[in-house]
Amino acid sequence: MEKIGILIEIKDGELKKTNFGVIAAARDDCHELYAFLLDGSGAEFKSHLAYYGVQKIIDISSTEGPLEWNPVSWSIAIIHAMEHLGINTLLGLTSSQGKELLPRIAAYLDAPLVMDCTDINLTEHTVNKSQFSGKTIATIKANGLSYIYGIRPNAFEEKPAPCEAEVIPYQTGPESEGLIVKEIKQGASKGIDLSEADIIISGGRGMKSSENFRILFEFADVIGAAVGASRVAVDAEWVPYSMQVGQTGATVSPKVYIACGISGSVQHFAGMKTSGLIVAVNTDPEANITKNCDYYIVSDLFEIVPILTRQIKEIVGEDQLTGTK
Ligand SMILES: Cc1cc2nc3c(=O)[nH]c(=O)nc-3n(C[C@H](O)[C@H](O)[C@H](O)COP(=O)(O)OP(=O)(O)OC[C@H]3O[C@@H](n4cnc5c(N)ncnc54)[C@H](O)[C@@H]3O)c2cc1C
Repeated sequence: MEKIGILIEIKDGELKKTNFGVIAAARDDCHELYAFLLDGSGAEFKSHLAYYGVQKIIDISSTEGPLEWNPVSWSIAIIHAMEHLGINTLLGLTSSQGKELLPRIAAYLDAPLVMDCTDINLTEHTVNKSQFSGKTIATIKANGLSYIYGIRPNAFEEKPAPCEAEVIPYQTGPESEGLIVKEIKQGASKGIDLSEADIIISGGRGMKSSENFRILFEFADVIGAAVGASRVAVDAEWVPYSMQVGQTGATVSPKVYIACGISGSVQHFAGMKTSGLIVAVNTDPEANITKNCDYYIVSDLFEIVPILTRQIKEIVGEDQLTGTK
């Protein structure tokens, strides 16, 4: 069986649920899945990972204990573990952390790297990824001795496949001094992480001000969504850049994407066109987004969004909503 490595991401002490899509992408009858964890949490997440079909959990630490976040030390530790275990293929998320680690690992190993894959065949080593702002989808064949792939968050559905798992401690050398992380500052965005969200509600120029985003946050709170934005809203400094969706912002793939006061430029679509269901709220019945969405509400967002918030609260009930958040 071919061994496949999976780089697991933890956020605020929890397994990011988008990890399970990466595991689903890697799973196959002829693959043995090795999950790499670098913060000493291998034993804690053993049952979760086993439930999705991971057979081996590699708990990587240094001689000094769990590894503090440092992209160089982490990359070197992962490479050592891959070499030790005879693993030539590594999958991770195309996330902020994945973008720090996967290209470094590929460079050290002189391995082909493809980020933001939306489909993958690990037998043929072919992947699909969108290009030119989502206008075309390229099928790319990787050739090499090792292979590194970044998977688009939420591009693959999580699929349980319970199995027995084993935690294998792996100790690497002392941390690298080539790069020192002096401080980690929390981003300005609040609530659910965009790339992790099942539902995203985004606002554009139609929001008109920073204060007005409050109605989107209220709606998001009720439906358990993350809040995103178009570049216009970010450039106007109504919301932080971390909320921008699109070609020069985040690429997201939620189950539902609700665009409020967003016209549907090609650059915005580049970041959200693989969403499961796209709903648009716009006063203009001719807006470009009408051509590319599943449902279109011709309405003033300042009327419809508070109504939706109120009605969902009434239907579901305050108690239940608190329980779902
Ligand atoms: C190189 C490059 C990269 C870019 N990257 C990105 C990117 O990553 N992400 C991104 O989003 N853009 C990006 N852009 C900008 C992009 O071209 C558009 O300018 C931008 O997406 C438009 O944002 P918008 O839809 O919010 O604004 P507009 O295009 O101005 O649309 C506003 C919409 O709001 C509607 N509206 C107004 N009032 C209301 C109301 N009360 N209720 C309901 N609807 C209302 C209007 O009818 C209109 O359709 C990029 C551009 C370039 C050149």
